[in-house]
Amino acid sequence: MKLYKIKKSKIDNKRGLYATKDIKKGTKIINYIGKIITNREVEESVKFDNNKPIYLFTLNNRYTLDGDFNWNTAGLINHSCNNNCDYEGKGFKVWVSSIRDIKKGEELTCDYGFGFDKDYKQFPCKCGAKNCCGYIVRAGSRFRINKKFAISKKKTNKSL
Ligand SMILES: [Zn+2]
Repeated sequence: MKLYKIKKSKIDNKRGLYATKDIKKGTKIINYIGKIITNREVEESVKFDNNKPIYLFTLNNRYTLDGDFNWNTAGLINHSCNNNCDYEGKGFKVWVSSIRDIKKGEELTCDYGFGFDKDYKQFPCKCGAKNCCGYIVRAGSRFRINKKFAISKKKTNKSL
């Protein structure tokens, strides 16, 4: 039995993946599949122009995984500021694992890991989490948007 099913999500009215049973922290849930392309292709292709790399994973200094295909079910996973899953990878493989215990029926969510840049307002976040910063921005950069995050982050990461 699969650990997930596709269902309409409350986040942004799109589809998402939901847990079909209780999932323990650290469980590999689904492979993130796509096409392996060169980093040069990413730079040169118009497909990736003016777009956040929503479905792109840099594998190493030569190759990137492009998961922007309808057969990549893991691509349906929504971003949340309080995500219960995260992307993991080794070599040319990327998958999604739970980062805490997840209850049956919970939506599976990840941190898309977007950096903070001038375009951040193009990607509002509707995850509904208590700690939602309003935009899809990776956890380490959210303090730039919302001062609420500044206090805790300043101490732990001065480079940001
Ligand atoms: Zn959010």
